[in-house]
Amino acid sequence: MLPSSQQARDVAYQLHAYTNARSHQRAGPLIIERGEGPYVFDTAGKRYLDAMAGLWSAGLGFSEKRLIEAAHRQMQILPFYHTFASRSNGPSIALAEKLVKMSPVPMSKVFFTNSGSEANDTVLKLIAYRSNAAGQPQRKKVISRLRGYHGVTIGAASLTGFPDNHRSFDLPLPNIMHTGSPHFYKDSRAGESEETFATRRAEELESLIQREGADTIAAFFGEPVMGAGGVIVPPPTYWDKIQSVLKKHSILLVADEVICGFGRTGKMFGCETYNIAPDVIVVSKQLTSSYFPLSAIIMNDYMFEPIADESNKVGLLAHGFTGGGHPVGAAVALENLKLIEERGLIANVGRIGAYMQERLRTLVDHPLVGEVRGVGLIAAIELVLDKKRKVAATTPGDVGSIASRLLHERGIIVRNVDDALSICPPLIVNKDQIDELIDGITGMLHDLKAM
Ligand code: PMP
Repeated sequence: MLPSSQQARDVAYQLHAYTNARSHQRAGPLIIERGEGPYVFDTAGKRYLDAMAGLWSAGLGFSEKRLIEAAHRQMQILPFYHTFASRSNGPSIALAEKLVKMSPVPMSKVFFTNSGSEANDTVLKLIAYRSNAAGQPQRKKVISRLRGYHGVTIGAASLTGFPDNHRSFDLPLPNIMHTGSPHFYKDSRAGESEETFATRRAEELESLIQREGADTIAAFFGEPVMGAGGVIVPPPTYWDKIQSVLKKHSILLVADEVICGFGRTGKMFGCETYNIAPDVIVVSKQLTSSYFPLSAIIMNDYMFEPIADESNKVGLLAHGFTGGGHPVGAAVALENLKLIEERGLIANVGRIGAYMQERLRTLVDHPLVGEVRGVGLIAAIELVLDKKRKVAATTPGDVGSIASRLLHERGIIVRNVDDALSICPPLIVNKDQIDELIDGITGMLHDLKAM
């Protein structure tokens, strides 16, 4: 079939994110044309249940009128103003107040950015700024985790713990190092319990800190549940153990809630699900259900006060983005948060999430399923060809990508991280849609086994 002119123009003019540019020239794009609740439709009219909520982000689905109206209303009043040089606007003020007040731990200030990557890059800069201000200029190193995902700008990509994000980009930056991930299924040793595995991870962190010199480490970044790394749900005591190491050495904790924030794990924040008390929380994605690019850094006074002093000493905080605190984004976010509360969507995650997890867990008896893991409305199915050895295929990702292609043909969108199929549907999904998803996966597993 000849590509439609739109497909040909895409190939002619766009370089795509996270895409093999050569394969794209051959295969062309899948063009999504419109959305309806948790479904999206391509240009041929085919319907897909988007069990990834776009990119873990469209919490309210793809056709929420109230968000559209909120954007339209704000566009008419004030379509743009910035927040540089003490300028402000109503929606950004209201959103900053809302985020501070709804935070699971005492917080003080919000700095607005446009994407998760920008937010994490900004946090890295603010940490250095803070260390200088606090008279600890040697405290500049930062620790994140293998399989952690924090974005793709130079600092954020350095935090991200994937070889693909470093290789060919001359990264990571020298002051950023990685410790092991809490991936019990993949990384635990024979006979190790979740508890001893968590203890080992905390001990490894402790030795890394000792090796580098405790007074040189400024911060630790982590997602409460790792998302893009393959939905890695930490062992129950993991975060307690990690936090006690960080506390002992006065190391700042940055919780990257870009995926977990606003209900995904069954509580408003992933930090609540895992009892995490961070100094900084980074949010984005579900903050506006991705109807507008927006991210926010929520920080406590321990972070803010030295920054304020330093800005006073040097004259100003010379950092900020044109779109930071965008009134339209803030208005959309406020409406989005209102809808999450008004419609009881966190309770929906509790109810529908429990149903989804229960149905997914029944798949673990299938010969190709090594593990099912998840919490709330986020989960992963680990596909394996050899259950005992926990291996999928000669090349990691082969089975996973066939599985996601088969599901795609069935009108279901998931995302494979190697051979783990990630599932993260919009928060508005109902029981019938979960049934549609699980029935689709069951059928796919049947086809996959027959191949
Ligand atoms: N942090 C986390 C936890 C993420 O999942 C992502 C995006 N998947 C980012 C940061 C980066 O966000 P963005 O793509 O908006 O830069």
